[in-house]
Amino acid sequence: MGIYLTFFSHVGPSNNPFWTETPHYSYIDWNHPDQESWYRGLDVPNSWRVGDELYIGLRFHTKNDVQMAVKHYSMNAHQTFVVVESGQRVFSVKCPNSNEGCPWKLRAIMSSKLNNKWVIKKWGGTHTCINPMLSQDHNKLDSEFICCCILGMVREDASISISLIQERISGQFNYKVSYRKAWKAKQKAIERVYGDWSDSYDLLPRWLDRMVECCPGSVYKLETTEYVSNNIVDPNFRQFRRVFWTFKPACDAFNYTKPIIQIDGTFLYGKYRGTLLIATTQDGNARVLPLAFAIVEGETLSDWSWFLSNIRRYVTRKQGICLISDRRGNE
Ligand SMILES: [Zn+2]
Repeated sequence: MGIYLTFFSHVGPSNNPFWTETPHYSYIDWNHPDQESWYRGLDVPNSWRVGDELYIGLRFHTKNDVQMAVKHYSMNAHQTFVVVESGQRVFSVKCPNSNEGCPWKLRAIMSSKLNNKWVIKKWGGTHTCINPMLSQDHNKLDSEFICCCILGMVREDASISISLIQERISGQFNYKVSYRKAWKAKQKAIERVYGDWSDSYDLLPRWLDRMVECCPGSVYKLETTEYVSNNIVDPNFRQFRRVFWTFKPACDAFNYTKPIIQIDGTFLYGKYRGTLLIATTQDGNARVLPLAFAIVEGETLSDWSWFLSNIRRYVTRKQGICLISDRRGNE
C-alpha cells in the first residue's frame, strides 16, 4: 500500500504535476480565522442569509429551506427547538421552554396563493429563556444539516479531511461535532455532489465507451459475473467484477519515457470495497506519467496477473522493462 508516497518522495513536489493543485487548506486565513463571519464554502440553501432574523411574511422555496433556516437560527442563538407539526404543507416549531413562558415559536405553511412557496405565518419573537442545553454537540446539528453546510467545500475538494469539516462547523456554530457525524455528513455530501455509488457503477460501461469514442485507440476491459439473488441467477443484471483501462496518448508517450513501470494499489473506501491499481512510468525529467488503471476485487494473485497481462497486451510490447512494485513474492 502507501500509494505513491515512497515514489514521490524521490521526485519532490516542485516538478510533480500531481502536486500543482492548490491544497484546500490554502484558502484558510490562519491569521484571522475568527474574523470571518461566514466561511467560504459553507452554503446557505436560500436567499435568507445566516444571521438574518426570521419574521412573518418571510418566504422560502421549499420546506427544507425553512428547516435549514430554523436550524441555522437556533444554532446561532445557542438554542434548540421542538417540532410541533411537520407535514406536507405545514412546519411548526417552538422553544422547549415554552411551558415556562418563552414565546419563541414559528409556523410556516406552503401557500397556494404564493405559487406553493413557503411563508412564515406565525413568529413568537426572540427567546426569553436561557437554554440550559449548551452541550458539546447540538442535537439539531445533525449530519443532514452539516451536509448542506459543507456541500460547497466538498464540491471544491472531495478529499477534504474530516477534521477540517469538524473545525469549520465548530468555528461557525460554536458546537463541537463528533468525528462520526462529520464523516457521515461528508458521505452524504459526496453522494449529493457526485451521485449515488450504485448509479456510478451503472454509468461505468457508458463512460468507458464514451472514453474510447473520444480518444480512439484507448482500451478498456470490463469483466462482470452473474448476478445471483436469493440463490437464483437473475439474467436481467450483471455484477461488476473488475475493470482495466488505459489511454492511447499515455501508451504512445511510453515510447519516449524510461523503461520503468511502477505499480501500486490503494484500497477504495466507498460503499463498494475494492482496490485501485495504477501503473505509472517516469519521463527523463522524473515526471510521473500514469499508464494504466484497474479496479479489482483485491490485490490477489489473479487480479495482479490480470492487470499485468493487460498492460503487456495493450500498453507495451517492449522487452526489458523494469517493473517496480511493493508486492512481495509470498503473497
Ligand atoms: Zn426559548
